[in-house]
Amino acid sequence: AAARTVSARVAPLGSRLVLCLVEDRTREKRVEAVRRDFVANVSHELKTPVGAIRLLAEAVDDASDDPEAVQRFASRMLTESDRLTHLVQQIIELSRLQAHDPLETPVMVELDAVVATAVDTSAMEAAAKSIEVVTNGEAGLQVFGSSEQIGAAVSNLVANAVAYSSEGSRVVVTTKAVGEQVQVSVLDQGIGIPAVEIDRIFERFYRVDPARHRSTGGTGLGLSIVKHVAATHGGDVSVWSVEGQGSTFTLTLPRGGHASSRIAGPQPTH
Ligand code: ADP
Repeated sequence: AAARTVSARVAPLGSRLVLCLVEDRTREKRVEAVRRDFVANVSHELKTPVGAIRLLAEAVDDASDDPEAVQRFASRMLTESDRLTHLVQQIIELSRLQAHDPLETPVMVELDAVVATAVDTSAMEAAAKSIEVVTNGEAGLQVFGSSEQIGAAVSNLVANAVAYSSEGSRVVVTTKAVGEQVQVSVLDQGIGIPAVEIDRIFERFYRVDPARHRSTGGTGLGLSIVKHVAATHGGDVSVWSVEGQGSTFTLTLPRGGHASSRIAGPQPTH
């Protein structure tokens, strides 16, 4: 009703203005629907680890005279609560990005440092599976933007490459300049992604075969975060994959020095 009143009042001012207002309302409604959907998904996803922790707590209670069982349940409770923490962190990260938080103080981000941190973050998981993570390509590349966001995006890609690869395989992270842009590619020799699923993996909470991936402790939010970071920086993310052979995710971002006009916030001073 409010939209109709506004349109009627401004109608004499010209149809273009009316159209803008109507489009605005439509967009508002769409944003609201996405938000509602997100909250519903979040509530659903939180119920799983919370429910598991509750069941395990009951099991500990019942097994109080069996120290070995108590130990086993307690360690599973720890795993589930770590998972819950990771999920909550990713939800916060994604909702900040979705709220279109402007890039507060964009800075020159050194890609080498971002990649090194991402590799470090997954080092333990990689070592546990004897996966060798190799970095190569052009050194000294820069992107103008949020080092925290770009770091989160690259770390998610490297973590996925390690999580969805088998023992003894290789992950290769390559950085290169392509014209006005830089590309970070993360290649793995892992399980790959079925062609029919490829369009869906960037959706929030979407996981290919959640049962098979339960052991990876994934949340289904990592790639949505990558996609949002790419969009905020005026870049994009793409994937090439063959099921059973591996995947390559490529994050493309505008090169440092060229992106300044596309990102809200202070301009670089040099
Ligand atoms: P998750 O936390 O489950 O890894 P993501 O949003 O990061 O969530 O990824 C969504 C889904 O895409 C994953 O559950 C997995 O099925 C698939 N996927 C992502 N990266 C890879 C990869 N490198 N190899 C194979 N499958 C992948």
